[in-house]
Amino acid sequence: MTTVLQPAETNQSPCESHTVGWKEAMKRAIRSQAELRRELGIPADPDASAAEQFPTFVPREMLSRIRRGDPNDPILRQLLATREELTESPDFVSDPVGDLEASVGGGLIHKYSGRALLITHGACAVHCRYCFRREFPYTSVASVSEKWKTALQHLRDDESIHEVLLSGGDPLTLADQTFEHLLDQIESISHIRRLRLHSRLPIAIPQRLTDRLVDRLSSLRPICWFVIHCNHAAEIDDAVAAGISKLRRAGIPVLNQSVLLAGVNDDVDALAELSEALIDLGVQPYYLHQLDQVSGASHFRVEPEVGRSIVNELRSRLPGYAVPTYVVETAGEKSKTPML
Ligand SMILES: *Cc1c(COP(=O)(O)O)cnc(C)c1O
Ligand code: SF4
Repeated sequence: MTTVLQPAETNQSPCESHTVGWKEAMKRAIRSQAELRRELGIPADPDASAAEQFPTFVPREMLSRIRRGDPNDPILRQLLATREELTESPDFVSDPVGDLEASVGGGLIHKYSGRALLITHGACAVHCRYCFRREFPYTSVASVSEKWKTALQHLRDDESIHEVLLSGGDPLTLADQTFEHLLDQIESISHIRRLRLHSRLPIAIPQRLTDRLVDRLSSLRPICWFVIHCNHAAEIDDAVAAGISKLRRAGIPVLNQSVLLAGVNDDVDALAELSEALIDLGVQPYYLHQLDQVSGASHFRVEPEVGRSIVNELRSRLPGYAVPTYVVETAGEKSKTPML
């Protein structure tokens, strides 16, 4: 393996230098379904090609956790475009959670009391086929730092906002300097007491958790809560575990959110195994989301009754803190709604 560390990443610890830097990992990611299938020994499917309107992006770090030759692998199911994506369904729409309506400009979504979510950046380190933002017009409401000016002004002006959620896309696909500049500006707003960082990078490309990043997050004035996104225990390998330990050692609380997905984690054993893998790493399972009904994702839907019985069964098997809250997001509501 060649050494490809970017100049900005040279402050990595010796153990990190055995893997490629995260930017190089982004460059090496798989960018077509044909390549994904070829790498995993899965037959090509010309019928699925139209599904690539939502482009493919799979880092090799994730590829290595997928069983070769098995189209039903729980990680691959999240990444493989299938012809089912082309099925039109009237209940599956382009903005299922009312994000555009709640947008106050500059990519800031202020839906809930005391907290606002910034669509920090359009890019992700993995493209999940069920993603509710797969249809989001990132270019018109978010992206570059110029656009953040509006968002930051809103945050400064509204003293009722005590928590900023950085989401995306994925905020950690930003270069360190750009991301740090954003953190500096948020830090300077005295009524912001908490920063919640939502990222799938600790799963997708765990070497993104560089010493530089973790140090900055742990020294931030608003306390940083980190929310990772993992749907299946198979997504957690040694590198992922090491990254999470690093966050924990730096005193950063880590939560996980998952989406309940047909064919991925819609059974008690899979979710119990996921929760146990998480709590063994000191990560608290936070939310289990009912699928947001975005067009192209109807084949991932799990009936609410099935979800409820799975979660009830989980409760009988696991410690209380290992059972995530099963929720759905409904446009116009003041919080996520528990699926009681
Ligand atoms: C989910 C979400 C939040 C956070 O909700 P919590 O229940 O506090 O986790 C905040 N803003 C938006 C727009 C959200 O979608
Ligand atoms: S926003 Fe999250 S769920 Fe959607 S594609 Fe990006 S990483 Fe996947």
